[in-house]
Amino acid sequence: MLGAPLAATITRMPTLIKHVRVFDGVEVVDADCVLIQGDQIVMVSRNLSAPTGCVVVEGGGGTLLPGFIDAHVHTPDQGTLNEAAAALRQALRFGVTTMLCMGCRYPEFVAQLKTLKEPDLCDLRSAGIVASVDGSHPTQFFDYYPTLHGAGEVESFIDARVREGSDYLKIIIEDSSVIGKSTPFISSEVSTAVAAQAHSHGLLVVAHAQSRRFVEQAIESGVDGLAHQYVDQPLTPEFAQVLKSAGVFVVMTLAVYHSREGAKLANDPRLNPKIDARWRDILCDSVNGQGQFREYALAAVRLLRDAGIPILAGSDAANPGTTYGASMHHELELLVRGGLTTAEALTAATMAPAKHFRLRDRGRIVPGLRADLVLVQGDPTTDIDATRSIQDVWRNGIRLRR
Ligand SMILES: [Zn+2]
Repeated sequence: MLGAPLAATITRMPTLIKHVRVFDGVEVVDADCVLIQGDQIVMVSRNLSAPTGCVVVEGGGGTLLPGFIDAHVHTPDQGTLNEAAAALRQALRFGVTTMLCMGCRYPEFVAQLKTLKEPDLCDLRSAGIVASVDGSHPTQFFDYYPTLHGAGEVESFIDARVREGSDYLKIIIEDSSVIGKSTPFISSEVSTAVAAQAHSHGLLVVAHAQSRRFVEQAIESGVDGLAHQYVDQPLTPEFAQVLKSAGVFVVMTLAVYHSREGAKLANDPRLNPKIDARWRDILCDSVNGQGQFREYALAAVRLLRDAGIPILAGSDAANPGTTYGASMHHELELLVRGGLTTAEALTAATMAPAKHFRLRDRGRIVPGLRADLVLVQGDPTTDIDATRSIQDVWRNGIRLRR
């Protein structure tokens, strides 16, 4: 059972956030105030005076950022709806105002989750059922999962995903060799047909491919983005140029590749109190045998950046070593460790995922966009660690009660 819906009882007060540094999704802009009205940002300026009846939030010299967008999560699709909603609740506490789910088992359950109106939940989009073949990742773990058995099934498969409400489509192109296994994988003919059919419905297509040969297949199939950096071998400058020519974006998922640092995250006193007990053990767990994954994924950051490839932050929560919301701060730290500037890392978690997943109403602090905002103490544009010191969060113009 869910608690009584609060949305109807909440009125959005016009709000002036003052004495802040404003990072607009790309850079720090010449402003120290942001005015919110209804669900929108209406003014970004210096020395604004508060309109009558306006709530004033003292920023204390902190930094206002667009709400974070985690471009790779898996929301719980088992248990009660309220248990699954706890993932969205925890994410919002950490300033993640939108999560992009990269595959689920029960789309009807996720569809219900997306319709919840409580103001303390982050917004959710989902790939729904992913395109894969029998015995492939992730179908080998499940008793039942719709799969493809040839190009002839692609049209009806995509039609079903459209009916279920998939916001974009994900194709699994993977033989599990990076984890020392051997599983069947989708053929080029079928992955190409899937991408074309999804595009014909206007859906964006991303690929899960953790080996370079499958990234090559993904590109040849015409996907728009990669849901992971591949990790079977190091990225080379030459292959970065191939990715650049293909026009794909890359969701890094450094947090899951550095899962053994999850326990450290769980012990950070700024994060610890906001982590739900139900996911603490998963965060402190880790995926085995990841030495080369860590090394290759981290080294890829600088090469991708130098090649001008759009980099998106994504945690792959809640896999072992990660959790909703908190792991976005780990991902940000890792992007900087890998060679992004602090501003580039913040862009990877705000403007870039909004732009590449076509969420045109968010991801920037500019008038007319959704008031999805995070206020942090300190200056993450000089020290990325400051994103963990969250003072306030707004989602759709509503300030999260703390
Ligand atoms: Zn994933």
